[in-house]
Amino acid sequence: MTSKQETAYQQLKDRLATISDLQSVQSLLFWDQQTYMPKGAVAGRAEQRATLSRLSHEMLVDAETGRLLDASGEPDPSSERGALLRRARRDYERAAKMPADLVARTSRVTALSESAWVRAREESDWTLFAPHLEEILSLKREAAEFLGYEHHPYDALLDAYEPGAKKARLETMFEELKRGIVPLIRAVAEQSAERGRDSEDRAAPLYGRFGEDRQEEFGRAVISAFGYDWGRGRQDRSVHPFCVGPGHGDVRITTRFDPGWLSPALFGTMHEAGHALYTQGVNQDYARTPLDGGTSMGVHESQSRLWENLVGRSRPFWACYYSKLQELFPEALKEVDAEGFYRAINVLEPSEIRVEADEVTYNLHILLRFELEAALIEGSLSIADLPTAWNAKMEEYLGIVPKNDSAGVLQDIHWADGLFGYFPTYTIGNVLSVQLFDAALKAHPGITEQIENGEFSVLLGWLRENVHRHGSRYYPDELIERVTSRPLDPAPYLSYLNNKFGELYELV
Ligand code: ZN
Repeated sequence: MTSKQETAYQQLKDRLATISDLQSVQSLLFWDQQTYMPKGAVAGRAEQRATLSRLSHEMLVDAETGRLLDASGEPDPSSERGALLRRARRDYERAAKMPADLVARTSRVTALSESAWVRAREESDWTLFAPHLEEILSLKREAAEFLGYEHHPYDALLDAYEPGAKKARLETMFEELKRGIVPLIRAVAEQSAERGRDSEDRAAPLYGRFGEDRQEEFGRAVISAFGYDWGRGRQDRSVHPFCVGPGHGDVRITTRFDPGWLSPALFGTMHEAGHALYTQGVNQDYARTPLDGGTSMGVHESQSRLWENLVGRSRPFWACYYSKLQELFPEALKEVDAEGFYRAINVLEPSEIRVEADEVTYNLHILLRFELEAALIEGSLSIADLPTAWNAKMEEYLGIVPKNDSAGVLQDIHWADGLFGYFPTYTIGNVLSVQLFDAALKAHPGITEQIENGEFSVLLGWLRENVHRHGSRYYPDELIERVTSRPLDPAPYLSYLNNKFGELYELV
């Protein structure tokens, strides 16, 4: 590297650090808005967030960023410096392709559509939301054209959340998942019908009186044992749980508590902690650079699902933790043994709402959203026909028709926020969680026994070493190949589901 290149590189890093600071403060404002901000601050806060967002966008797309990138020399992708330049160029080029006017229009339209969506969902009235979604859709199609794509406009949008992902590859993955999951759901339904046990009594242990303070105490004990670093994080309450990392030493999670139902806080806490562990584990040298934070939404979701499902919904975990939970809730759980609890947290049954779905049917909820949004983007489905198409797919995949649009097409906020291309990352996360967990078990077969003893350090250590510390240094496909020696593969995930639920429902 010449000294000229070195100077340009240092200037570029300074510039990227400023952009990163602006984004961090923005995420802190978001956190505040969702947790402690007084209602009266809504309008002012919207302006503050818009200002910060505009400043960081302007700095990123400025011609100076492009000049410094060019002057920093040819990146060698195998080095950290090369990886940083590659990420920075990707961010710069994606942002620079979008006309400022389109960015501004999108943020105005989504701000309005979000409140329209809230009302439409409350009143279950599709017509209140449809015109807004129409506008968002046309902005997204416009964006796809500016961003560019080789095969399908959906690819351009998907790439924002999952670098390198393609619609065609996802179709293949979903096809394989569908072939495995649909018969499993059918077999469980037949078995349940035969034995006359409905899932309501199976799930009964999760409902009762569960004091919020004790739920919080239990959740904190669990994620402390996972390895969540309280010196660089905190936990607060919000209506929709999330994880946010406003800075390298500051990764926060939020939780929603329901005093009559254990699941939301119990699994929500493990889930968000899974995201947080990833962010807390990134190499410290990457702070204030584009390499800080997770490499994609799908890889992020693999971490949250791994802790929530592969650890938190497993028998070994509850072999250790059930007596502790029972001690905290002696009344509600006195008639329930560990096995009954394990069955309760693993009920498999098709339902209307994605966020309440079990591990198996969840993916069919994602599949239908993926198919519908891709069809909307390519123009083969119209907004007017969307509710009917939604219900038809619900019936085809899950055998149920939502009772109204609130419990159907209006249930998720994603489209109202303009997040087209986001949904598939949830299933990528599910699939990848098992592929990674298998790799960890192969390297350290003692992990299961450790979990039985409430010990998670070997598992966390393996994830730190193989996934977390790299931050965004590798793109998702590179990371997966590097860690598991194969591309993303649904086969291990399907065999995990078949083994687990086959045993639970005595299918074999
Ligand atoms: Zn998540």
